[in-house]
Amino acid sequence: MHESKRKLKVLFASAEAAPFAKMGGLGDVSGALPASLLQNYKDELDIRTILPFHEVIKKLDPPMKKIGDYAFSASDQEIECQLFVSDIDGVPVYLVDNDYINHNSPVYHGDWYLDGLKYATFSLALLEAMRYLDWKIDILHANDWHTALAPYALKTTYQNDLFYQGIKTILSIHNLPYNGWGSQDAMARLGFVPSHDQDLPDWARFTPLPLGVASADKVIAVSPGYAREILTPEYGCGMEGYLQKHSNKVMGILNGIDVNIWDPETDEQISHNFSAEAFSERVNNKLDLQKALDFVVDENIPLLTIVSRLSDQKGIPAILETLPQLLDRDWQFLLLGSGSPELEQAADQLSAEHPDRIASILKYDEVISHVLYASGDIFLMPSLYEPCGLSQMFAMRYGNLPVATETGGLADSIIDFSRDPENATGFLYEDKTAEGFLRSLTLALDTFADPGTWHKLQKNAMEADFAWKKSAAKYYDVYKSL
Ligand code: ADP
Repeated sequence: MHESKRKLKVLFASAEAAPFAKMGGLGDVSGALPASLLQNYKDELDIRTILPFHEVIKKLDPPMKKIGDYAFSASDQEIECQLFVSDIDGVPVYLVDNDYINHNSPVYHGDWYLDGLKYATFSLALLEAMRYLDWKIDILHANDWHTALAPYALKTTYQNDLFYQGIKTILSIHNLPYNGWGSQDAMARLGFVPSHDQDLPDWARFTPLPLGVASADKVIAVSPGYAREILTPEYGCGMEGYLQKHSNKVMGILNGIDVNIWDPETDEQISHNFSAEAFSERVNNKLDLQKALDFVVDENIPLLTIVSRLSDQKGIPAILETLPQLLDRDWQFLLLGSGSPELEQAADQLSAEHPDRIASILKYDEVISHVLYASGDIFLMPSLYEPCGLSQMFAMRYGNLPVATETGGLADSIIDFSRDPENATGFLYEDKTAEGFLRSLTLALDTFADPGTWHKLQKNAMEADFAWKKSAAKYYDVYKSL
């Protein structure tokens, strides 16, 4: 009789997971990576996701089942939780609710104390949920600062708790500067104590993300480029010394995208489906959009697009500064984004000054994002740093060629036209200034004017393989190695 193979039990803990809750790339990854792992390793892995039960999930109301109530104590408090289970593409998704997580709350309050309480309790509640389920996991895969305190709790509060013995931990870093600073009062209230790890700088010994970095068995940055960059003072956010010293546990794996959701051939959010082979319909998306925006309707005018959080990280100021210097050239620009009130106002003002060629849609809108990826010719991504970036991958898959800084995951996912014109999928530039951006955008506009070359680049970009499968295999290897 064959002994049945024991599956590795993995808990994937995140603040977001599409389609339940998505505020950015973390949501895309947490929705798609566990599903891809399950699909490709269903005989080897028992992977489940756990999320806070946010208000957006309550509103979405996916099919779910209540599992039950459990309680645990943290410092002098008794924390009562409710546990539900739903699923995303076959991956069981646990949803945890309690007074601090509170399913009337936004994914992020934007108030550090409230976010600190929400995510510090979630980090404990997810461990306690495993006990309540009597599910002894092999691997805890935490993501970003929100769940970084779970690996830390395993190394401290739960160190001698028999139920949690032998669990290996991974922390994925999607964005190092967001380290959970400001959660200190909340952490103290829940009984967390500062770390004694002498390798950590003082400020980091009571800050969620660094504590997770110090506790995790593996630290995975979301691209190989970013994994190298965070070892340097320019990108290391004060953690470079620690990361250099412990570089043997740091690695990078490039994110993938969900190629079923993001498929121009079948995408129901766009009016004219197309593919690299059946390409002629693509332009009709652009013509429709030009009409809707009251722009000149002309396929020969390049349409510049961006879909982004409006923050300095994304290089929005470089865009707003550069476009008025390029008014002697023919182009149109459509921005979809929300975030910093100052940048929203600046974008709004630029559109008001040039209504014939610039428009801004200042909100988060998933459907419109698909339309932009499918309609634009040039996708702007002049990020100051970019751990991975998914928008440029969606854009390429839809034949919208990126102009982007040569950093992090952008450099890992885009083949630059100047270096490799044969295989190019976009335009990269090193100099992270408005001038650098202007030069690169000018080159893209010149290239657009040559339809033969442009179409070749579009074909390269659309045929590039951004599916999760390759990267999921790398994650699986890490799980196995642990
Ligand atoms: P980050 O996670 O740093 O925001 P990524 O490029 O990794 O950047 O992921 C951004 C994700 O959020 C993409 O899926 C993008 O389409 C989406 N997105 C960003 N802003 C908007 C918006 N205003 N409306 C719809 N989707 C958006």
